[in-house]
Amino acid sequence: MDAKNLTCRKCGAVYPLDNRYSCEACGGILEVTYDYEKAFSRNPVGNPDNSIEGMWKFRGLLPMEDKKNIVTLGEGDTPLLEAGRLARLWGCDLEMMVKAEMLSPTGSFKDRPTSVGVSVAKEKGFEKIVVASSGNASAAASAYAARAGMDCVVFVPDTTDPNKVIQAQSYGARVICVRGNYSRSFDMAKLCAERYGWANVTSTFINPYTVEGDKTPAYELYHQLGGRVPDYIFIPIGSGPLLVGILKGYEELKEMGLVHRLPSMVGVQVTACEPITQAFACGTDRVTGWDKQIKTMAGGISDPLIGYEGDGELTLAAVKRTGGRMVSLEEEEVWEASEAIETKLGLYCEPTGAVSAGAVKKLWNQGLLKKGALTVSLTTGHGFKYSGRQPKKPPIIDSADQLDQLVR
Ligand SMILES: [Zn+2]
Repeated sequence: MDAKNLTCRKCGAVYPLDNRYSCEACGGILEVTYDYEKAFSRNPVGNPDNSIEGMWKFRGLLPMEDKKNIVTLGEGDTPLLEAGRLARLWGCDLEMMVKAEMLSPTGSFKDRPTSVGVSVAKEKGFEKIVVASSGNASAAASAYAARAGMDCVVFVPDTTDPNKVIQAQSYGARVICVRGNYSRSFDMAKLCAERYGWANVTSTFINPYTVEGDKTPAYELYHQLGGRVPDYIFIPIGSGPLLVGILKGYEELKEMGLVHRLPSMVGVQVTACEPITQAFACGTDRVTGWDKQIKTMAGGISDPLIGYEGDGELTLAAVKRTGGRMVSLEEEEVWEASEAIETKLGLYCEPTGAVSAGAVKKLWNQGLLKKGALTVSLTTGHGFKYSGRQPKKPPIIDSADQLDQLVR
């Protein structure tokens, strides 16, 4: 394994690859760092380990010692689909593409970070994991715990979509609802890890290993685009580990000489909960926790960041470093994007996952995207996860005559 240390993103303090959730010296966010010279010399992205399917083929840049401890459901290798019909519908002179993360084993991109988090926990001898989630990560943690033969406790806000609760329970997790917003569930998982010694695989930034899984879409895009770098990558974000992870992936690709520039990263929130967009709009580096009432169909990105505002600041800095931007959608724009993805691309997407496509339209209309640019939008969650739709009542017939009437 070429992973070497946990390094504090703030003060640079270095720790061994053990189980810890923040920097002892300054409380900063930790990240996995590698013996890059050794890792890069093997070119693990250009020459992946094809004996494993999915994202673990890039295990040369993932933090696992022993291949036999990898807990996998085949996550990764999601399709990159051209989305010209969306561009035409919206009048965007862009080369639009969608990376369909909803086609992951449990129906969301959270399988990537969770697979790494649970694998590392297993390798370190943990038998029980805990996770805080707005829903998708709870389903993922529960599934990977089942796969690994581990116990799983899940904390979700009491407003979590019942479909996501059912999914987590189906895999055998103990689901506990916490009254209030996501930040309160986050605190509860953190407390469990401290008090009972369970491995916290919450896939924000608290577990430094999980973010490594979030790098892997970058490696896949490198292959899927034949080395071309997207001009913009659009990502739905709560605290933003997927955005930070993909950027880290591209930075590694650049270090290895496989690409020569970085994509501009665009983080997408909803106006109902937009702490990072607000900081971006104000031109500040400081993110303020969102203490207002939240009502949105995009529950997967409703993270108020209260008590861990630094997570949002890390994401904001990543966005700025790439010349990218933050943008938020109104509720009707979220719905419009969902419908467009379904009817024009044939992909069933939860509203949260659709914002990354809707934001392309919004920024294009504001004149903020280069003509002809290549955009990649990550559609992060499956439509099956969202129970807020009402079916249009279909007609019921019992004879061919009635069919004639309908068809006419
Ligand atoms: Zn530190």
